[in-house]
Amino acid sequence: MKRFLALALVLVMALAFVGCGETSENVLTMGTNAAFPPYEMVDENNNIIGIDAEIAAAVAKKMGMKLEIKDMAFESLITAVSSGAVDVVLAGMTVTEERKESVNFSDSYATGIQVVIVTEDSAIASIDDLVGKKIGVQSGTTGDIYCAGDYGEDAVSRYDNGALAVQALLNGQVDCVVIDNEPAKAFVTANEGLKILGTEYITEEYAAAFGKESTELLDNFNKALSELKADGTIDAIIGKYIKAE
Ligand code: GLN
Repeated sequence: MKRFLALALVLVMALAFVGCGETSENVLTMGTNAAFPPYEMVDENNNIIGIDAEIAAAVAKKMGMKLEIKDMAFESLITAVSSGAVDVVLAGMTVTEERKESVNFSDSYATGIQVVIVTEDSAIASIDDLVGKKIGVQSGTTGDIYCAGDYGEDAVSRYDNGALAVQALLNGQVDCVVIDNEPAKAFVTANEGLKILGTEYITEEYAAAFGKESTELLDNFNKALSELKADGTIDAIIGKYIKAE
């Protein structure tokens, strides 16, 4: 009887241990910068919502995991995922060769276009007019990198997020803002006196980023993502936030 009790105790402890392991393994921690509508933004209840949050939640559910989102500066995201502080980044993040040196990207789930926001009365009419102008960008984004490369470091004014760059445009501190098209539309809708130039700067692919070690998680993510593309879930999530023109 004593032996049986001891065995039962060991079993109970082992099960409890496995249980703990499972709960911590079953959380997928996503890093993002929740100031990039409609991909990620904060709602009136302080929840992070948007296309990336919903895609990540759908993928996590398919993988049998629970999603947790951590909000941070866009510039910190690559370090956060490569150091393991988060498991994955979804942040309207563009796939670039330079970023591939630090992270692995999933299959792409959306397309982005770098566009130019100006004030309605601006003399800037196309990309060519940006020479010699003050360009507001979000620090560390592809818009920042391309503009600094094409127009020079001095031409670029860096802000922590798109909303601050747009504020600087409204205050006359910069002549234009270069940013991804969907947030651009959201900012122009939310603020009077702004417009988006008809000429597009650069087209890009958005994907989720993983640490170099997380190859199994990346494979599982891609598998779940492709199933969710095939059954229409991804299109439905994107369609909920972006109305077809
Ligand atoms: N797509 C841009 C990039 O990856 C901007 C993303 C963002 O600001 N969240 O650099």
